[in-house]
Amino acid sequence: MASKVYFIKASGDEGELAISEKARKLFRAGGFEGCFKKNDFTAVKVHVGEDKNTTYIKAPCLKGLVEELVRLKTKPFITDTSTLYTGRRHNAIDHAILAAERGFSVEKLGIPFIAPDGLFGTTETAVRIDGELDREVSIATDIVRCQSILSIAHFTGHCAACAGATLKTLGMGCASRKGKMRQHAALKPQVKAGKCTRCGECRRHCPADAITMDEVQSHIDKDKCIGCAECVAVCRFDAVEYDWTQENSILQKSVAEHALGALKGKEGRAVFFNFLLSITKDCDCFDRPHMPTIVSDIGIVASIDPVAVDQASIDQVETRGGKGLPQLIGNKRLDWRYQIEHAVKIGLGRAEYEWIEISE
Ligand code: SF4
Ligand code: SF4
Repeated sequence: MASKVYFIKASGDEGELAISEKARKLFRAGGFEGCFKKNDFTAVKVHVGEDKNTTYIKAPCLKGLVEELVRLKTKPFITDTSTLYTGRRHNAIDHAILAAERGFSVEKLGIPFIAPDGLFGTTETAVRIDGELDREVSIATDIVRCQSILSIAHFTGHCAACAGATLKTLGMGCASRKGKMRQHAALKPQVKAGKCTRCGECRRHCPADAITMDEVQSHIDKDKCIGCAECVAVCRFDAVEYDWTQENSILQKSVAEHALGALKGKEGRAVFFNFLLSITKDCDCFDRPHMPTIVSDIGIVASIDPVAVDQASIDQVETRGGKGLPQLIGNKRLDWRYQIEHAVKIGLGRAEYEWIEISE
């Protein structure tokens, strides 16, 4: 049986208020009210964008959805976990200040930003799962303890997972620091001989101080490396590589297994929105302003199935772009199918979907 996926056309040109109202319309059309109960602690999982990033989904676009949760008398809170890499989302204090500056706050949305993994990203709960790689995953404690989740993902490409959407938002974005390290553990990048220009960009961004430079090129200390893939992402000379098929498939499978852990016990109590607006090659963790888009704005997709919502979103982007997502983001070695197929295999959802378009 196919999962229902709801869609409404939208464009950033319409303005944040119009987008907010369209998201609300989709919430009501999908009958998602039934997933939330009075007095639920409801996690509204977002990405507030790295410091200089300008293409993340802006707080006013979420106002309609937040108001729906308040109307249903839940206790919603905006949330996201700390990052492995350094930056303004690296701990709960800096993250909350950045969120407030961007309007993800009581003053602007009427609900607070609360990090679910504590001050340092280490407040975690071990969740038992029936996975292939792991039987237990480390998830942010307040994600585990809350009763329901409204996940709001900005659809983008991703330098390691190919697609950054709901599965990535749940798997990586709801894991504790330990859970994130587990997902990245498979990545062991190395610098290609003859390609490195010694620009030093990778060294500046490495959170583990794992990169050194000699007179010829940079080098990665595999014992120090935590596999965060920052160096892969920031190198403009294609000089950092890893085993794209083997290591990449393990990372994506691990993302799906952590998503399974994040949702455990919340069957029928979680809703997933993908905003297909400002669709960039790289995700909102990129500390860069005005990243170019790979396709024009499409709209908002929502479902109670986290796999179907991602499959449908990828199909939309590939149709709009006229080619596969790996080609659109300029890395033919990546393949998003690993995360979708594994998510189906471990029972997270279905890839088959029924497309239901809501009139504007
Ligand atoms: S970013 Fe790339 S080119 Fe620059 S030093 Fe690192 S590996 Fe070399
Ligand atoms: S070497 Fe690269 S992948 Fe390893 S920790 Fe540093 S930036 Fe991350």
